[in-house]
Amino acid sequence: MSGKHKKNEHSPSRAGRELSRPEELKAQYEKKIGWMRVLMDIGNALNSTLELEKLFDLIVDSAIRELQAGLGSLMILDQGFLTVKAARGMSEDLIGRIRIPLGESVTGWVAEHAEPLLLEDITRDKRFGYKDAQRRYASNSCLSVPIMHKGEVLGVLNCTDKAGGGVFTGDDLEFMITLASQAAVAIVNARMMDHIRELADHDDLTGLYNHRYLIDRLAAETERVDRYQTKPLSLVIIDIDHFKKVNDTYGHQAGNEVLKKLAETLVKATRRVDVICRYGGEEFVILLPEITSSKARSYMERVRKNVEKLRVTLDSTVISITVSAGIADYPVSCADADKLIGCADRALYRAKSEGRNCVRIHGSGG
Ligand code: GH3
Ligand code: MG
Ligand code: MG
Repeated sequence: MSGKHKKNEHSPSRAGRELSRPEELKAQYEKKIGWMRVLMDIGNALNSTLELEKLFDLIVDSAIRELQAGLGSLMILDQGFLTVKAARGMSEDLIGRIRIPLGESVTGWVAEHAEPLLLEDITRDKRFGYKDAQRRYASNSCLSVPIMHKGEVLGVLNCTDKAGGGVFTGDDLEFMITLASQAAVAIVNARMMDHIRELADHDDLTGLYNHRYLIDRLAAETERVDRYQTKPLSLVIIDIDHFKKVNDTYGHQAGNEVLKKLAETLVKATRRVDVICRYGGEEFVILLPEITSSKARSYMERVRKNVEKLRVTLDSTVISITVSAGIADYPVSCADADKLIGCADRALYRAKSEGRNCVRIHGSGG
């Protein structure tokens, strides 16, 4: 029989009726007050700046401590699979390997059905086939609840291995459901923050990173070079040649389309680790970690030729452009991290004055 049906057997009212002695009642109330405190702590953590991972740890820790479970986990559903975000009682190695498809095992069942499950004895439930569970755990009872937001399953919170071979109760289930709702709030908040950060870091027109992000990232990347003595970091600054003429001839809207197509061309030519930013108007900056200026030049020559071949078609007009670029690498051609953009900009100026549609490296004749 499924725990879903057994849930009623463990309802708080029945548990309440069973208690006869005052000390048992007292213990029951003290436990509930303890749980309220735990939930308040989690609520406070939710309102503070606590990171999502720490909050997940706090939720799982609270669940296993309060429910006297040997094992607890919080799993997140992503593209049909559940992976562990926080766990107790499992090895790190196992945590990393767990990837449960929707519908598989207790966790997958709960995620698929969007229903909590309280099983007194998992080995007696034909759906899951855990015939040898008792060999591994103190108890075969398990508790698994979906983490839900507006009808969508975000993940699953699990507890198993009740201490002393005991069975999880309806009260335990209620506590887990409340914990899961706290986890849902945390996940939704974190996703919203990610979205806001995403908007703040990106340029509306091209979708590339913006100037603000570049400055932060540049500081982080140059610091990384210093700290880990990695290969140099190259910075490329790209400027469209005679872009004003494009606007004057075809209009500002057409100019915008050209900027978008150029951004796409840059993305296509660039590695995932590289950082492409719209630096301003018709200028772009690309950070190429662990790439020397001479390698950056080969890369940029390829990009320059791709841009030359690019045709932006708008109604009946076909627009083509060229770009010039300046390169500096830290700490080789430019030893001062704060001056890296300025160094590359000077190389760009040379590219412009030496005929445009070409690439120049700072501090070299080339
Ligand atoms: P150069 O080869 O020396 O770089 O010539 P240029 O015409 O590209 O240089 P200039 O800096 O004189 O002009 C840049 C132009 O870019 C002027 C401005 O109207 C245009 N621009 C800047 N931002 C945008 C934008 O978001 N959309 C459009 N369509 N044009 C933009
Ligand atoms: Mg310019
Ligand atoms: Mg220009």
